[in-house]
Amino acid sequence: MGVPLLDLKAQYATIKPQILAAIEEVMESQYFILGPKVKELEDAVAAYSACGHAVGVSSGTDALLISMMTEGIGPGDEVITTPYSFFATAGCISRTGARPVFVDIDPISFNIEPTQIEAAVTDRTRAVIPVHLYGQMADMDPIMDIAGKHGLAVIEDGAQAIGAEYKGRRAGSVGDYGCFSFFPSKNLGAGGDGGMVVMNDDGRAERLRVMRGHGGKPKYYHSMIGGNFRLDALQAAVLLVKLDHLDAWTQGRQDNANAYRRLFNEAGVVVERQDMTGVKGVVLPEESPARRHIYNQFVIRVDRRDELRQWLDERSIGNEVYYPVPFHMQECFADLGYKEGDFPVSEAAARETLAVPIYPELTDDMIAEVVGAIVDFVK
Ligand SMILES: *Cc1c(COP(=O)(O)O)cnc(C)c1O
Repeated sequence: MGVPLLDLKAQYATIKPQILAAIEEVMESQYFILGPKVKELEDAVAAYSACGHAVGVSSGTDALLISMMTEGIGPGDEVITTPYSFFATAGCISRTGARPVFVDIDPISFNIEPTQIEAAVTDRTRAVIPVHLYGQMADMDPIMDIAGKHGLAVIEDGAQAIGAEYKGRRAGSVGDYGCFSFFPSKNLGAGGDGGMVVMNDDGRAERLRVMRGHGGKPKYYHSMIGGNFRLDALQAAVLLVKLDHLDAWTQGRQDNANAYRRLFNEAGVVVERQDMTGVKGVVLPEESPARRHIYNQFVIRVDRRDELRQWLDERSIGNEVYYPVPFHMQECFADLGYKEGDFPVSEAAARETLAVPIYPELTDDMIAEVVGAIVDFVK
C-alpha cells in the first residue's frame, strides 16, 4: 500500500472551500502586502502563543535573522546554539556577521543541553538560540537563568513548535523572541513561505516592525538598516483558515504518537538506551516532563539506520533523516575550527535517528503498516 511521510493533499481536501474563499477575498481586495489580513493573523498568533506582540515575516529563517538584527547582533559577537537543527538556525547567526558557538544536545529530547551552555559563554556572547526540535520545547528554565545572569537575549527557534508548551507556557512566550515558520510541512503551514516573530517586550516589537520594512520610520527615513521581511496577505488568509484547525491537528498527531507507542510495545521491540550500535530494537521519542509535545516529527532511533531507510523506501514508506550532518561538521562552518568528536551526542543522533510519518490524517492501517515494516527489519 505504502505510506507517505506527509500528505498535504489529504489535509487540503478537508478545508478546500474555506481556503479558496479566503484566497478569493484577498484577490477581490487587491491588498497583498501586510494590511488587515496580516494584522488579523498577527493578533491571532499572539493570542495563541500567549504573547503581547506578533509580527508577520517572510519565513522562519527571516524570523531568526530579523530577531538577531533587531537585537543589534553583528561582527565580533557570539551566539550560542545547538549543532543539531535545521541549517537556518546556525546560518542566520553567520549571516549577521556573528559567530555561532555550539553546545551539544540532550540524548533523549535532542534539545540543547542547558548544563553545558554556561561553559560556552564568553564576554562576546550576546544571545542563546534554543531550538524546540521536533515539536517539543527545550528545558527553558535553566536557559533563562543563565541568560539572565550573563545579560544574553534568548531567541526561541520555535519553527517546529507553534503551540508547544513548557510548564504551561507556550513556545515563543518564554524567551525575548519566539520565531515560527509557516513552511508548508510545519504544523501550521502556509501556501508558500511565511513566518512570525512573537514577543512581549514593547520596544523590541516596535523595532522589529520597523526592521521588517527596511528600517524606515517614517517611510523613507532610515535610522536602521532592515530589509524586506514582509508576510503577504494571501499567506495570512490561508493561515487564518488553518489556525482554527491547529489544535485538532495537534490532537491527531498526539493520537498517532500514542498508537505508535502501543504497537511498538506490543511487538516487543522497544528499548531504552542512547547508543544503538549492535542493539536490536527501537528507541521511541520521549515526552519530557511538563511539556505539550506537538509532534512536528516522530523520530525513532535504531542501529543500521541507513539500511532501515532502504528497507522502508523499498516498501514505499515515507521516512527522512533530520539531520544527517551536525553543524560543526558542515563544510561551510569549517573555519569555526570544530572537529568530529566535539559533539558526540549530536553525531550519534545524526547517525541513528529516522523520522516516520506522523501527520494527522494517517489512518490506523497506515500506522500499523509503518510499524509492521520496522518491526520486520529490527526483529
Ligand atoms: C523550518 C525551520 C526553520 C526555517 O523556517 P523556513 O520557514 O523554512 O525559513 C528554522 N529552524 C528550524 C528548526 C526549522 O525547522
